[in-house]
Amino acid sequence: MATEVSEVAVTTLSGVGPQIEKHLQRLGITTVSDILFHLPLRYENRNRHLSLGSVRAGDVVTIIGKIDLAQVVFGRRRSLVCRMSDGTGSLTIRLFHFNKRQQQGFERGRWISCYGEVRIGRSGKEMIHPEYKISSQPIQPPAGESLTAVYPTTQGLGQPGFRRLVKGALSYVGQLSDLLPDGDDLPFGTLSEAVRFVHAPPLDADLVALTTGDHPAQQRLAIEELLAHHLSFKKIRQRRENRGAPSLSTQGTMLAALRTEFDFSLTAAQERVINEVMENLNSQKPTLRLVQGDVGSGKTVIAAAAAAQAVESGYQVAIMAPTELLAEQHLLAFRSWFRPLGIEVAWLTGRLPASERKGVIQGLSQGSVKLVVGTHALFQQEVVFLNLGLVVVDEQHRFGVGQRLALVAKGWSSGLSPHQLTMTATPIPRTLAMTFYADLDISSIDELPPGRQRVTTVALPESRRQEVVERVRHACRGGHQAYWVCPLIEESELLLAQSATATEAEIRQAFPELKIGLVHGRMSSAEKEAAMRAFRLGETNLLVATTVIEVGVDVPNASLMIIENAERLGLSQIHQLRGRVGRGTTKASCVMIYRSPLGEQARQRLDTLRSTTDGFVIAEKDLEQRGGGELMGTRQTGHLRMRIADLVRDQQLLSLVEKRGRVIMRDHPEWGNKLIHRWLGEKEQFGAV
Ligand code: ADP
Ligand code: MG
Repeated sequence: MATEVSEVAVTTLSGVGPQIEKHLQRLGITTVSDILFHLPLRYENRNRHLSLGSVRAGDVVTIIGKIDLAQVVFGRRRSLVCRMSDGTGSLTIRLFHFNKRQQQGFERGRWISCYGEVRIGRSGKEMIHPEYKISSQPIQPPAGESLTAVYPTTQGLGQPGFRRLVKGALSYVGQLSDLLPDGDDLPFGTLSEAVRFVHAPPLDADLVALTTGDHPAQQRLAIEELLAHHLSFKKIRQRRENRGAPSLSTQGTMLAALRTEFDFSLTAAQERVINEVMENLNSQKPTLRLVQGDVGSGKTVIAAAAAAQAVESGYQVAIMAPTELLAEQHLLAFRSWFRPLGIEVAWLTGRLPASERKGVIQGLSQGSVKLVVGTHALFQQEVVFLNLGLVVVDEQHRFGVGQRLALVAKGWSSGLSPHQLTMTATPIPRTLAMTFYADLDISSIDELPPGRQRVTTVALPESRRQEVVERVRHACRGGHQAYWVCPLIEESELLLAQSATATEAEIRQAFPELKIGLVHGRMSSAEKEAAMRAFRLGETNLLVATTVIEVGVDVPNASLMIIENAERLGLSQIHQLRGRVGRGTTKASCVMIYRSPLGEQARQRLDTLRSTTDGFVIAEKDLEQRGGGELMGTRQTGHLRMRIADLVRDQQLLSLVEKRGRVIMRDHPEWGNKLIHRWLGEKEQFGAV
């Protein structure tokens, strides 16, 4: 075989200059192979073209017409409003973000074609921020040859640009090496055929199967991806068995002192989990334990207890959270607990001023800093620990495996591997833990602290929206805060941003007296953090958000959660969102707004959520239901960030994956490494381990 596609730099593709290269790097793409394995989130049939008279709210379609009128409107927010018609009807386009050049393009009498979702707004049918094209010539209805793939991309690199790159990369697809050849247990054809198919499915491909991820071409790739993850876990396990860890055994003096700092007594479940963790820390094998517990069950306390043990033994501790905001929250908690014990807690994130950062990094390498809380900035290369004994990773599924390994690898200068605890609110089913995760140890906090308010949950059809508005007004007038979550389609950041932006505009109109914040996935992380912080500080009353609002965020004064399009969300997802409220002393509630008519599964989901707030019950139901494979963004809600596989949906593939995994480990270990590299990337970090 000629050069491996994984060795061909992405810059060999035409159109990839330094700028694009940088954008691609942000997506973790450096080679042509990375592009080929950067898989679509969903598909659109752009050929679906409807006349303006026949489109309905909720249709995602192409429309073509003539511009009748275009003007900038100065309301509460400046917007560009364009009226178009095609003889059968008319529709309004609204842009909230536009520049002068775009504005000038909207000229009366020109032709325009738009692709987007139709909504019903103040002036009838609307599209907010559609993808559009304007021409002085009549525009022909689209006639693409395949379904259009929609990719996860990044600011500065749009869908059309990314699609062009994929097209270029596909000319290399025949050179992909098949790492699981032969065997009649594989769906679809060869790897190359499957990759080509998922990037450009023919127009007559089964769109439903493609949307749920059940298409054989996707399943073929899912097997590879699952295998890659499974093998990487096996390797971690193997290495762990070959490594020693510092034994963190003490008299328990610091832990005893720490207990007096908690202004509550621990639940029986917390006590049990602390014991399980202590047993691990005493041993000379590196701990690899997952602590699972529902939102609000008190996982942070477990991390603190383990940290006390490690610090007393003279080792360093790193606590890592997936976002600045969560890290900051931990910092505050840890400082309040450890300062009285004479232990300083250091802080390391990407936004720390250089001088402070230098100080912390120096303290870590010299050992004067014992306890550090931070984000992924903790595993940057220049961060070196003198004797890292314990790593705690919070909300573990938000990190890639490689990132976690990199942090663990840091402790190894001493030849010993640090202990590792990961904490998550999404339970892992026991069977998965035993097989797929290669015997990962698990502790469960299956009890909430006493006196927790149950979040009252109701489901209302959209027609009763006005009541919801009144409810929000009432809560905010009473000094409380509320979240308004408007997930449209989990996978499409653009549409999401459109819907959040549109909802925000509507909501601003409904509540002229409130201070309203907005968070969505298209904002920079600094903007997001700023909006979240303002909400936490009470500077805004109402936060309009997509589902990006953080897992683990603690705003006790927020007592009301509105979730739109609840019928489109998964059980666990709503449960997690709902966990953002009910953290204070006020009675909290959650209103799920749905669009009628409700499907049977959606109805069951909403019923489950109304009748229980027990995260474990919900997780079980979730598993049962998802077997059916509904249209949902399940990939984001699982434990591993996967590109195409879904542990729950693809359960039936796991025995095949294990079987193949054994054979590869025994006969072709180099294939295993290539698979891991292909799907998990982060080459150097794996190299370091
Ligand atoms: P999560 O498991 O979601 O990470 P946290 O650790 O953030 O939960 O805890 C949620 C809240 O409950 C925090 O304010 C914490 O101080 C409090 N808490 C933790 N354990 C207890 C307990 N045993 N009794 C009362 N409150 C507790
Ligand atoms: Mg937490």
